[in-house]
Amino acid sequence: MSDELETSFQTLKQTIPLLLKHKISAIPTNYALWYTYVSGQSEQLNAELDKMIESGRPLTSSRAQELHRNYLSDQQEVGTWQLRQSLEAMLIELSQSLTDTRTDTQGFKNTMDNCLADLEKVENEGWSVEEVMNLVREMVRETQQIKRATLDFTASLASAEKEIDQLRQQLAESQKDALYDALTGLYNRRVLNEEIAAMEADQGVCLIMIDIDHFKSINDQYGHQMGDRVLKAIAKRIKDSCRDNAIPYRFGGEEFSVLMTASKLSQAIHLAESMRRTMEKVSVIDRRTGKTLDGITASFGVAEYKQGMRRSDLLEQADKQLYEAKRLGRNRVMPMQT
Ligand code: GH3
Ligand code: MG
Ligand code: MG
Repeated sequence: MSDELETSFQTLKQTIPLLLKHKISAIPTNYALWYTYVSGQSEQLNAELDKMIESGRPLTSSRAQELHRNYLSDQQEVGTWQLRQSLEAMLIELSQSLTDTRTDTQGFKNTMDNCLADLEKVENEGWSVEEVMNLVREMVRETQQIKRATLDFTASLASAEKEIDQLRQQLAESQKDALYDALTGLYNRRVLNEEIAAMEADQGVCLIMIDIDHFKSINDQYGHQMGDRVLKAIAKRIKDSCRDNAIPYRFGGEEFSVLMTASKLSQAIHLAESMRRTMEKVSVIDRRTGKTLDGITASFGVAEYKQGMRRSDLLEQADKQLYEAKRLGRNRVMPMQT
């Protein structure tokens, strides 16, 4: 770079940040004012602009025009040649910084190529300062845009990386906890399936299927969060009702199961009945309104494993009885027919 070019480029490089900092639009008048300010060619202009910066007042366009008229228009400090040099230098700088950031620059490069082509017209067609300034304005806009895009891209990349990291951690965590249901802390359905597949069928195995009655309306009336608290409260009741030979599971949604070993059907019916009664005592206070939510009921289906049944029949039978309990009016225990 020649010394002259270097100087006008440095001036330009300081001018644009000033325009951005003071939120001054890059129209020719403003650009010329601030270009002259940075170059220090007019002491009086600098004094005026310094005063304005200090006062924190915005530079109105009429004031800018006044300053331009008083300090610049006769002198023509910002000549076409000077601008052209500045623009060329800016293009070199911009394309360099874009290579550095390795952004997708094709669209921007095209714009800049067009700008370069337009620059030829400055000399060949004798463009006015006004027209050249329009070109500068376009370049500034384009530069700001690509800068924003790069920043956005970098930021979203960083946050995406963070999110992926968190997900990875959560996944590792959930794989570790895959036996448990996150809301209630009970074993999940996967464990129930494994237990049924591994059960010693001739040892007296029973299954109780539980489904909360009209749970959807609890959600609708009190909100999903209250619904979750009800599920937790009910899970706790079910768990407290279970002895060593009865293991509770969250089957999914508002459905629970209890798998009993070394038990006869009558014992399973007895347990289901006591759970049904204890569930009627569940109450949850709505913290928002202070209102008590109670009167919760559930329906129960009970099945016993029989010789000659497939293992999957145990679940099917308990489910069938649960459906029957619902059909007959809910809040009841329906055992498999023997
Ligand atoms: P029914 O007496 O026939 O069983 O009626 P129901 O409303 O209980 O049954 P339905 O299957 O229509 O609705 C179950 C509802 O349970 C729908 C669903 O939004 C809700 N639910 C499922 N899982 C959850 C959960 O984890 N939290 C909450 N709050 N609601 C859940
Ligand atoms: Mg259900
Ligand atoms: Mg239900």
